[in-house]
Amino acid sequence: MQKQPAQERIKNFNEVALGLSEEEALREANKCLGCKKASCIIGCPVEIDIPGFINLIKDKRYDEAIKVIKEKNSLPAICGRVCPQEDQCEKACILLRKGTPVHIGYLERFVADWEIKNSVKPKTVNRKSKIVNRKSKIAVIGSGPAGLTCSADLAKVGYEVTLFESLHKPGGVLVYGIPEFRLPKGIVAYEVDYIRSLGVTIETNVVAGKTVTLDDLREEGFQAFFIGSGAGLPYFLGIEGENLNGVYSANEFLTRVNLMKAYRFPEYDTPVNVGERVGVIGGGNVAMDSARCAKRLGAKEVTIIYRRSEEEMPARIEEIENAKEEGIKFHLLTNPTKILGEDGRIREAECIRNSLGEPDSSGRRRPVPIKGSSFRTKLDTLVCAIGQGPNPLLLSTMPELNLTRKGNIAAKEDGSTSIPNVFSGGDIVTGTATVISAMGAGKRAAHSIDEYIRSRSF
Ligand code: FAD
Ligand code: SF4
Repeated sequence: MQKQPAQERIKNFNEVALGLSEEEALREANKCLGCKKASCIIGCPVEIDIPGFINLIKDKRYDEAIKVIKEKNSLPAICGRVCPQEDQCEKACILLRKGTPVHIGYLERFVADWEIKNSVKPKTVNRKSKIVNRKSKIAVIGSGPAGLTCSADLAKVGYEVTLFESLHKPGGVLVYGIPEFRLPKGIVAYEVDYIRSLGVTIETNVVAGKTVTLDDLREEGFQAFFIGSGAGLPYFLGIEGENLNGVYSANEFLTRVNLMKAYRFPEYDTPVNVGERVGVIGGGNVAMDSARCAKRLGAKEVTIIYRRSEEEMPARIEEIENAKEEGIKFHLLTNPTKILGEDGRIREAECIRNSLGEPDSSGRRRPVPIKGSSFRTKLDTLVCAIGQGPNPLLLSTMPELNLTRKGNIAAKEDGSTSIPNVFSGGDIVTGTATVISAMGAGKRAAHSIDEYIRSRSF
């Protein structure tokens, strides 16, 4: 797939990966063997009929291909861009044994982009002709991929769904976390509009647990609830100096850049002044996104500081490669131990080098500090991207809801919780995971909510 050249793209926030041309898409599609027992489908958490849609691409029947995808996936242009396909459908593709799998994600994106280019607005589904009207009102809390998918699937079978979102824009991490150069916000808006076109009402600026409680919603006639409030509470290192100016959680940093459009200063009056030297702690997608944003905001030197080696990095391989091409430096096997400042602002970080010991509970080798290996590095900004936990606000208003030791909602595989009409899924249950796993959870919960409503005579 074509990409913007690294030296150009670090000066803008435009999309890096440019998608397949029709010729490339047809060549890629024709690699697919159309396996009868297609293992790729099992590798896809929402079970798209992959050989089915690829077959339609071979015949240039793109309008039918997108319909096949949308039977299972309401956010294909998003998934085609950010899903870790290398660990899912493509990992299961039989051609991987011979070397390279079919690039299923690129093809999904190709078809979804074709639809966007060729239709003015997502087509409104003729609800009356397609569905059994079940009438009941369902409230969905949180408009990330879990909430959007749950809403779409419920609307498709005829429920009256209202989606409540605390921010002013729907999309969750898709709008406030993942940067424009990986996932253009116009694409998210298009797919959110598709969800609206299914009949879902989206109410933004509503903080469930504060603006409105679940009891209020019950009184308004909502009969079942899905909580997909994500993992938005940042973890910090707990080291000296974390309160200095210039030290951000990745969550705040990325929200300022993406949602508040810091990169479009002065058009948007919310700049982030990163200075010349930026450090980013962490080795996941969030760390790569933060580092690449900092580079585009004008930092001369951006360094990822990660406590293990590259092999253990949880970020997608493609994103690590993109970061390297853009000149991001990597201080591997390194941990910050102290942040030092001047006049209340960060000046440098003290770090220690690690070696790798025995595997820990995550299965990855444990970093062990090497005595006497401390060093200091000058920094104007430090972004902490070491993970996020569940936001406790809504959960603190629901004492009867069982939580796990880490404070996540204790939900079963089918999304049911300790409260009979409350279902949940996505990062609020699993901790930070992936877009498609959150969507899979939203899908399963929608199915369970439907069964729950049908089992009762409201
Ligand atoms: P979220 O997307 O977090 O959405 C939850 C929503 O609930 C938010 O909009 C929030 O504002 C809202 N909310 C919270 N509390 C309330 C309340 N009380 N009332 C109303 N609304 C509320 N995954 C990938 O697969 N590929 C990637 O490349 C990738 N990159 C990532 C990059 C970053 C920077 C981050 C942070 C994550 C990334 N992920 C990626 C992970 C992925 O985005 C998440 O796993 C996914 O978004 C989880 O979906 P969700 O619906 O559970 O929660
Ligand atoms: Fe095509 Fe690979 Fe799926 Fe077989 S496993 S149907 S080759 S994408």
